[in-house]
Amino acid sequence: MHDVIIIGAGPAGLSAAFWCDELGLDTLVLEQAAEIGGQLHRVYNPINNYLGLKARNGREMLEHFSAGVEDAGFDLWTGAEIESIDLRAKKISLRSGERLQSIAIVLATGVRARTLNLPGEKEFAGKGMIESATRDRDLFAGQDVCVVGGGDAAAENALLLAEVCPTVTLVHRGKKLRARREFVQRLQPNHAVTVFTESVLTRIIGEDRVEGVEILRKDGLKPFQLAVRGVLIRIGVEPNTELFRDQVELGQRNYIVVNGEQETSVPMVFAAGDVSNPNAPTISGATGAGATAAKVIAARLSAPRSNG
Ligand code: NDP
Repeated sequence: MHDVIIIGAGPAGLSAAFWCDELGLDTLVLEQAAEIGGQLHRVYNPINNYLGLKARNGREMLEHFSAGVEDAGFDLWTGAEIESIDLRAKKISLRSGERLQSIAIVLATGVRARTLNLPGEKEFAGKGMIESATRDRDLFAGQDVCVVGGGDAAAENALLLAEVCPTVTLVHRGKKLRARREFVQRLQPNHAVTVFTESVLTRIIGEDRVEGVEILRKDGLKPFQLAVRGVLIRIGVEPNTELFRDQVELGQRNYIVVNGEQETSVPMVFAAGDVSNPNAPTISGATGAGATAAKVIAARLSAPRSNG
């Protein structure tokens, strides 16, 4: 029996673990990936807005965080795949056979990039599917590319690619880009960029690598093909809540609902980080929420228990 089991070792989970340990709680962190860090592995831009700490990218930020938690006394299991979880009973079964129980649980499972689920999207990883313009831009210099999405991420990546690619075709399902005005104003006069609104990607074409895409416009009768060497899909993120979806109250877009103490609808089950923050996800917010959950749990566990 642990005091606290934390699920997820991104900034929120690590912060919660660090604080729980500091507050004297017996803490176990379960991370299903082989490495800690969560979304930090997908941040390729410099991070300049975390108070007092700058990093060239997410990995460097993770190095800062790891240095802080390395000496802490909590247990951390990576590659820990959860088979089932009972939030009310605070019981967890792992695929490896272990049965675990705790007094409190912190859900810090984060979000994942949404995908189009088109054939080729996964298969062409490293063969024309662009993970990030910041990281991969030089590899695609001089080549025609396609970007899918209408938010800040798609617009920013399209602008970065347009600096080195002869053509960038931006495909967005909506009528208007929802990216911030600054990005839209820079896209409009950019000769390299063509924006197709009310359009969807229907195929990624290629034998061994990306060779083209098929696009269907709302006003078009049939899809048309475009030769491109790179495709970047940036259509937002979705929360990792499948494991406990029917046990805890979920709000908009299936994000976990929490109160001001980061507690969910299930007593002594807390959530922190992007999984419970649909509208303003930040690294600072995630570490803060993890700390809040830890302090509330510690206060509850040290409070005199009622006999009733
Ligand atoms: P958003 O959720 O803001 O936008 C997602 C876009 O993808 C929307 O235009 C949406 O279309 C479209 N979309 C969603 N699902 C599908 C689908 N199945 N098929 C086709 N299109 C789809 O996500 P972003 O990744 O752009 O941004 C995430 C967060 O990160 C935001 O808060 C953003 O502000 C922030 N960000 C900030 C940056 C910066 O400040 N420099 C850079 C990048 C991101 P529709 O509009 O029709 O719903």
